[in-house]
Amino acid sequence: MQLNPSMKHELIRKSVRHFAETELAPIAAEIDRDAVFPRSIIDKMRALNYFGLQVPREFGGAALDTISTAIVVEELSRVCAAVGLCVTVHNGVAVYPVLRFGTREQKQQYLSRLANGEMIGAFSLTEANAGSDAGSVETTAVKINDDYVLNGTKIFVTNGGICDLALIFALVDPEGARPANGVFIAESGFPGFVRGEVENLCGMRANPVSSLFLEDCRVPEKNILGKKGDGLKIGLVTLDNGRIGIAAQALGLAQGALEAAVKYAKERHQFKKPISSQQTIQNYLADMFTEVAAARLLLYRACALKDEGVRFGTEAAMAKLYCSKVATGVTSLAVQIHGGYGYSKEYDVERYFRDAKVTEIYEGTSEIQRMVIARAVLSEMRL
Ligand SMILES: Cc1cc2nc3c(=O)[nH]c(=O)nc-3n(C[C@H](O)[C@H](O)[C@H](O)COP(=O)(O)OP(=O)(O)OC[C@H]3O[C@@H](n4cnc5c(N)ncnc54)[C@H](O)[C@@H]3O)c2cc1C
Repeated sequence: MQLNPSMKHELIRKSVRHFAETELAPIAAEIDRDAVFPRSIIDKMRALNYFGLQVPREFGGAALDTISTAIVVEELSRVCAAVGLCVTVHNGVAVYPVLRFGTREQKQQYLSRLANGEMIGAFSLTEANAGSDAGSVETTAVKINDDYVLNGTKIFVTNGGICDLALIFALVDPEGARPANGVFIAESGFPGFVRGEVENLCGMRANPVSSLFLEDCRVPEKNILGKKGDGLKIGLVTLDNGRIGIAAQALGLAQGALEAAVKYAKERHQFKKPISSQQTIQNYLADMFTEVAAARLLLYRACALKDEGVRFGTEAAMAKLYCSKVATGVTSLAVQIHGGYGYSKEYDVERYFRDAKVTEIYEGTSEIQRMVIARAVLSEMRL
């Protein structure tokens, strides 16, 4: 495994950083304040192939490796994590399962449109009684002629307000002898696919996270992803991949907060000298810098394992657990270094601080990541 990103990776970083600083930085605070997703940004990101990061070229994607994909999300999130969230959820947990488990026909029907951003994807597992316990979904799917008819309420759907397609996890034939978990590719235009209100969130406010109501929603049988009964397996495999993206998002937030803190510490004078000359502030910055570097190594290691085609679920969980912890710690210290100004919306660190928290919650809470990691620790095969 190569420890330093290659020249190709650094070029990708440079290009995404330029995009983020010119297109996202001027609007990031405003879209957070107004809780609106910047639709005009979608067209710009489409042109850069950000919606088909790992999709093969035959479907119009960029066919990037996983480290490059993480770098894209990291750099977007360094400036605007809510837009980074849109991109990572679309690529990591909507496109990826279609690519991995879709039939030839499903790929032909959806992959090109997802890859070019004509369709924005969402992943819809969580319900009121099914959060960490992903196997407890109560949304039902009943077969009627050539369709499945879905009924239920999904909550906390990232991209919910703008998605054109959502992967819906449901209990198939709930009244039958053998109810099974299934995943359905549901287009937002299907009858009975109803969007709920956008959630009023603490952070990631510019992402239209919403509920989805499935009201006799008719999904053609050919839109079942994988086999009937594979729903939980597909969900868990997909989340292994998604966690790399959330780790990248957390890392980007930590990097952005670190840079803001360094800048402020050099500018802010107290006791007639910059606060950066105080040993305590230097210690904070040294710890933040070290933790961000360690988080990056853990993340790129998970990416490299995935690209080598070996199992990476434990390493993805470790990366997500650690990067999200670093993100909450570093953004909190960045606020501390800014003093009272860090608690004001005048400075970006206030937004980073709010955005970072949820990286410890979604796509599996930190407690669930520890369960995944502990399973590996306790298995002799993994040590
Ligand atoms: C902004 C945002 C966006 C989201 N986007 C999506 C999305 O796109 N798609 C989607 O499907 N979901 C999404 N979610 C939902 C998210 O994945 C869940 O909130 C998360 O999995 C936790 O589920 P829960 O909220 O029901 O908490 P619960 O499962 O009720 O957990 C509550 C607490 O109990 C702990 N806990 C639960 N079980 C255990 C256990 N066995 N051992 C130890 N501790 C435990 C948890 O770690 C947590 O601390 C999103 C959430 C948010 C806030």
